[in-house]
Amino acid sequence: MIDVVSVASEAYPLIKTGGLADVVGALPAALASHDVRLRTLVPGYPSVLGAIENAHTVAELADFFGGSGQILAGRAGGLDILAINAGHLFDRPGNPYMGADKKDWADNWKRFAALSFAAYEVGRGVMNDGYRPRILHCHDWQAALTPAYVAFNAPTQVKTVLTVHNIAFQGRFDWTIFPDLRLDYRAANEGAIEYYGGIGYLKAGLQCADALTTVSPTYALEIKGSAYGMGLDGLLRSRADALSGILNGIDDREWDPMIDPALHTHYSHNSTELRAGNKRALELRFNLDDSPGPLFAVVSRLTWQKGIDMLVEVADDLVAAGGKLIVLGSGDADIENGIAGAAARHPGKVGFVRAYDEPLSHLIQGGADIMLVPSRFEPCGLTQLYGLRYGCVPLVSRVGGLADTVIDANEAAVEAGVATGVVFAPATAEALQEAIHRAIRLYDRPKLWRKMQRRGMKSDVSWDLSAEKYAKLYRRLLGEKNDGSDDD
Ligand code: ADP
Repeated sequence: MIDVVSVASEAYPLIKTGGLADVVGALPAALASHDVRLRTLVPGYPSVLGAIENAHTVAELADFFGGSGQILAGRAGGLDILAINAGHLFDRPGNPYMGADKKDWADNWKRFAALSFAAYEVGRGVMNDGYRPRILHCHDWQAALTPAYVAFNAPTQVKTVLTVHNIAFQGRFDWTIFPDLRLDYRAANEGAIEYYGGIGYLKAGLQCADALTTVSPTYALEIKGSAYGMGLDGLLRSRADALSGILNGIDDREWDPMIDPALHTHYSHNSTELRAGNKRALELRFNLDDSPGPLFAVVSRLTWQKGIDMLVEVADDLVAAGGKLIVLGSGDADIENGIAGAAARHPGKVGFVRAYDEPLSHLIQGGADIMLVPSRFEPCGLTQLYGLRYGCVPLVSRVGGLADTVIDANEAAVEAGVATGVVFAPATAEALQEAIHRAIRLYDRPKLWRKMQRRGMKSDVSWDLSAEKYAKLYRRLLGEKNDGSDDD
């Protein structure tokens, strides 16, 4: 049995702003059958502390980044949680990164250095019950100073893995914070945390972790090039041997159209016609008419990365071509206004719920016909995986994990019966528009459409294969032999 602590700023169902939380929340169960015992270290936000059962203090953190704190252990949301109870850093409701004014907290550098430092402390065995993990698995920039503490502060045996869920978020701060990081002075150089004259948390992790992963094989390739590497491609090329791409899976206990409590009608791959009940519920919820034609959907942060500005450009054409559109999400003001404008121009055809609504996101997967994911870059993407599982045919750009998980309905794939969606490139409004027309033509062939839905619903989007890959990576780092011969 390998003891691993997963270190992250989000974990579903306790706190979530995106796919990171889903992945962190799903990993423990996925890895349990691979002889890995995974505990999850998260900041003690109110939603986390409020959910912990039988919380008990396992470590005191005196003089902890401007106050005192403890590490609490207990069960929360089905997870084995270690939470950092430090009110001066984490006792803030709502979004974990920003205040109600949508501005990042000014002390985020301190809050997430504290998360990373606490992980390091756990890794070197400060817990009073003798618990000592052999691996710290850190997620994204918020946890990415951990490998630097391990590499430069008092030595420990613990190994570190850093998973990049999105290289666009790097945690860059001014050099003046260095004295308050509690990081050994030897880390203050370009081979460690220095990044373009400041401090880069993600950069530090990429430099110092024993192993690096990202969330799809294609993204692992892309970020080694300047087009997607966001300034870190050179470093990643130099660490190419340490980097692998392991695709995310989905938690099929949370996402199962046969039992999902958020759906009006349940269905399987043999009864996709029952999705009509969910579609009608959506039309009512979004004030759409019940005219025939495909219902396109977006469940997303409304940002440039996600390509939703391109969708704004082509929304009128989508409606003119016979489609309807629903959008759930919030984000950049311009894009929100663009979607709201399309809804105002097309009453009954375009609907917008500007919110974060987990149950509604499930109903959309269960009732819409096409899940739109026109991202400019996409490390893995989960919404297209949920779409596949729910028979909501994904229409995606050919980047990152989208390219790895959706099989385009080109003639050959349709002929062979392997198509699961519509894939377009390049990520431009013109190509998106063309893809939307192609999807509408496919939708107009009901037999073919049902076949695509069924094929998608049967494709393997589970954690099975990927959990095995993580388990193998852990064993390799610990110098243990992996069983089986397909070690890759
Ligand atoms: P990212 O993490 O880049 O935002 P992913 O596709 O990896 O994108 O994951 C997004 C996750 O957040 C999915 O679980 C998706 O269903 C969820 N999500 C995004 N926007 C909303 C929303 N407005 N309401 C509910 N869930 C949302």
